[in-house]
Amino acid sequence: MRKKLVVGNWKMHGNRSANAALLAGLKEAGPWNADVAVCVPFPYIAETALALTGQAIAFGAQDCSAQEQGAFTGEVSSAMLADLGCRYVIVGHSERRAYHHESDQLVADKAKAALAHGVTPIVCVGETLAEREAGQTELVVKRQLAAVIHTLTHCIGEIVLAYEPVWAIGTGLTASPEQAQAVHAVLRKQLQAATQKADAMRILYGGSVKPDNAAQLFACADIDGGLIGGAALKAADFSVICRAAS
Ligand code: PEP
Repeated sequence: MRKKLVVGNWKMHGNRSANAALLAGLKEAGPWNADVAVCVPFPYIAETALALTGQAIAFGAQDCSAQEQGAFTGEVSSAMLADLGCRYVIVGHSERRAYHHESDQLVADKAKAALAHGVTPIVCVGETLAEREAGQTELVVKRQLAAVIHTLTHCIGEIVLAYEPVWAIGTGLTASPEQAQAVHAVLRKQLQAATQKADAMRILYGGSVKPDNAAQLFACADIDGGLIGGAALKAADFSVICRAAS
């Protein structure tokens, strides 16, 4: 039985006082019988670490460099994230693939860099609406995951995978439990061909998960939790989702 994992992706939201209130709300609402984490903007990682000292809520970042160190202005290395105590880092989020033109290979290299420093990459894959409508969903997510499998080889079992259909992110459109489960099953099968650890790996669903649809999604056989955007910014909503995973 895989323990569920719920991760809040704060994106580029928040400020020191709003973050403190959000984290205080989560501390009050927890603990849950699920693993819970928040992935916060870089400048707030250290303060989040302090606020979550002694708590069962983990924290992480939303991106990392594929490079180890050096003259890469504006980049943040996974060694730095590890230094701050980050447990997770999101890589390959569709917003980064779209706005920063991140390739499948770059995403895979970022995942490799994270693992090298003991930070668990949450690798996002997902199709656009046009790709879904063209019947290419499987092709796209398998191609995205294949790059990571090829790059990480025997370490692939250490990642968390997140299926995030691009058309469902921040749009209020959610994949139905049947649609999500179907893609998760495809991804699980691909992982099974690559590692004996596949059945223990967590595959999260992300895309307009809300308090009122989380339980149905999390009840699916291959959905092991969620990557939550908008609803992670309200302690009340996020804690209902964490409860649904418990
Ligand atoms: C996300 O940003 O990863 C996400 C799933 O966002 P939302 O929950 O707002 O759709």
